[in-house]
Amino acid sequence: MASIKIENVTKTFVDDKRGGTFTAVNDATFEIKDKEFLVFVGPSGCGKTTSLRMIAGLERQTSGNIYIGDKVVNNMHPKDRDIAMVFQDYALYPHMTIEQNLAFGLKNMKTSKEEIKEKIEYASKILGLDELLDRKPKELSGGQRQRVAVGRAIVRNPKVFLFDEPLSNLDAKLRVQMRIELAELHQRLGATIVYVTHDQVEAMTLGERIVVMNKGEIQQIASPRDLYRNPANMFVAGFIGSPPMNFFDAILESENKLRVGELTFTIPEALVKQYKGYVGKNVVLGLRPEDIYDEEFAFTVPTDNKANIKVKAIEHLGGENLVYFTMGERMITAKVSGESFIRPLEEKSFVFNLDKMHLFDRETELRIF
Ligand code: ATP
Repeated sequence: MASIKIENVTKTFVDDKRGGTFTAVNDATFEIKDKEFLVFVGPSGCGKTTSLRMIAGLERQTSGNIYIGDKVVNNMHPKDRDIAMVFQDYALYPHMTIEQNLAFGLKNMKTSKEEIKEKIEYASKILGLDELLDRKPKELSGGQRQRVAVGRAIVRNPKVFLFDEPLSNLDAKLRVQMRIELAELHQRLGATIVYVTHDQVEAMTLGERIVVMNKGEIQQIASPRDLYRNPANMFVAGFIGSPPMNFFDAILESENKLRVGELTFTIPEALVKQYKGYVGKNVVLGLRPEDIYDEEFAFTVPTDNKANIKVKAIEHLGGENLVYFTMGERMITAKVSGESFIRPLEEKSFVFNLDKMHLFDRETELRIF
């Protein structure tokens, strides 16, 4: 069993410059299931790497417990935790061949020569490295080097793989390819994988569940679909999804009327009962760019909530267009059909599909529904 349990784990660092302490991870509690692909995502400095390093044993938590399987590993040395970590910079030995790089960790574990050979054959076949074993790291492409780093983890056959931004040094195209390879690898190895990235697209495509962090706090743990559909708060709503969700400052005027600046939107009947008690209060309406339509192309959605709006700018992406306009202080993005013909500074009728609306408390920023 390679489940992992994090129980009330806090990590504080002593801040030498300013004095006092800095909390990098605050009271985190959650479980990673056996064979799960779990991704940590969040902006720079939110505590993702620190979380991973505590699981690896490279960093000691200030308080709380970490379990791997059913064992508390608080005092266990990293090499005894039966985990393998793949770093952002791959950490390959430049003077060694690929084969020697793959064998290095095994030799230290006193594995027999035959077994080392077998394991290297197995890993290099899975990763397509068989032809490259005699080369040195500098003779490989970025993607190939990345595969060697993964290979070094595979040959050790660990219970848990930890990945820290392994794709961030690759160009965009190669990243997509390696993403697919990593997902396949997870299926094939049936191992528990914990993966850190700041890239929400990578998190959404790889993770079975995602831990969204901000400023040392876990914001939400959920499947990609759930994060997208039911974000717990405005941070998650704004972080997951590209382009990000639009936010409109609004007031719930009555049970089914939402005022946004000069506009009054009608809230669909089916949603009304979910926010009783909020009438008269300041709220934030959340609407994803794909839920705002050029009226001429709003064939499949109700068109009762619409407004004439002056377009500020437009980006043509081929299959779709991104249209930018302002409402109040906020910049709004609509992702409309690529067929839609809109010019900058033109006034156009846009449809707001409130069937897909999210509503947040403006003070707490928590989701109302
Ligand atoms: P990034 O995506 O930039 O790598 P991250 O989410 O992985 O960010 P961490 O590396 O976990 O962030 O760092 C979390 C916070 O803890 C940061 O503010 C960082 O400056 C701080 N921190 C990390 N290591 C130390 C350390 N050894 N001493 C002091 N502060 C540290």
